[in-house]
Amino acid sequence: MFELLRTDTSSKARVGRLTTVHGAVDTPVFMSVGTQGSVKAIDPRELREMGAQIILGNTYHLNIRPGMDIIRAAGGLHAFINSPAPILTDSGGFQVFSLATVRKIQAHGVEFRSHLDGSLLFLGPKEAMGIQRELGSDIAMVFDDCPPHTSTPRELRAAVERTMRWATECREQPRATGQMVFGIVQGGARSELREECAKTLVALEFDGYAIGGVSVGEPEPEMMRAVEMTEPFLPPNKPRYAMGLGTPAQLVELAARGVDMFDCVLPTRVARNGTAFTRKGSISIKAGAYKADFRPIEEDCDCFACRHFTRAYLRHLLNVGEILGLRMLSVHNTRMFIRVMEEVREAITKGTFGEFRREFAENYVPTQKVLLARAAVAER
Ligand SMILES: [Zn+2]
Repeated sequence: MFELLRTDTSSKARVGRLTTVHGAVDTPVFMSVGTQGSVKAIDPRELREMGAQIILGNTYHLNIRPGMDIIRAAGGLHAFINSPAPILTDSGGFQVFSLATVRKIQAHGVEFRSHLDGSLLFLGPKEAMGIQRELGSDIAMVFDDCPPHTSTPRELRAAVERTMRWATECREQPRATGQMVFGIVQGGARSELREECAKTLVALEFDGYAIGGVSVGEPEPEMMRAVEMTEPFLPPNKPRYAMGLGTPAQLVELAARGVDMFDCVLPTRVARNGTAFTRKGSISIKAGAYKADFRPIEEDCDCFACRHFTRAYLRHLLNVGEILGLRMLSVHNTRMFIRVMEEVREAITKGTFGEFRREFAENYVPTQKVLLARAAVAER
């Protein structure tokens, strides 16, 4: 199901192909997030045109709304959203622990209150796998305990133990035809926990392995270390997925650390604030500097927004609250992430990834937050 096609000589980067029931996915890949069954502000035709290979759906959200009765009646998630492309579904573990009010963690799952109407719900390995089976996703994720970045060592240990136990339960659940299941490695910034969790999951022989517990508010260097301390324990012949990451520059660096799959809400989330990602870092299109700037967001970008509209016009649309403005920024940002991954694959294949990586990092100006985190680590 996963074919490793090429390994970079200057780093751990790899090119592979993941074959799902709904088609093949070339890796490294950026997966657009369609939490509620739609990538925010972008329609499926646009996604196809910009080279999106696979999108994400979310168990927690889809189970609450529209509810499984509706999706079951529609014939599964692919039919409901009318997309023939591969879909990966998150198990809902992350949302239960980050979004809902947890009432009680039990042996076989979590009792929590819906973030929407406060109703009492229960999600555990059996329920999460059952929902994903009915959604009919190509890749289902195990139900895990994703603790916040501020957790104590004791809380982290408890979360890892629960994650390992729940992974075993998830492994035993029936699946949709051809559905793959990925394990999720937790352990925060603790290398011994990461190692233990990874080894336990690998022994269970999942179809792929995710690195979880990243993108939970930790500074960039800590996130990179979490990936570095997990990757050596993952088998080379299975895909690796870093959950919820990151900026374009971080994706290139994570690919260099042997990660094959990424998902992130950043491209569409920041677009709604008027922020565009470029090779030189992110820029605020709303800024006064672009008032009479008749260049596209990015000169050599092949997205629909850059081929048709200027910064000045997009700025105007954003300032007067026209929906087209945030739609076009979402289109540009999503295409930018997808294109960076295309270039990463091409560079690895050609044997020029080392050079590509160096140039990318040199050109890309990280946000202030990322720079401060790097400086803090350098001072230690
Ligand atoms: Zn563009």
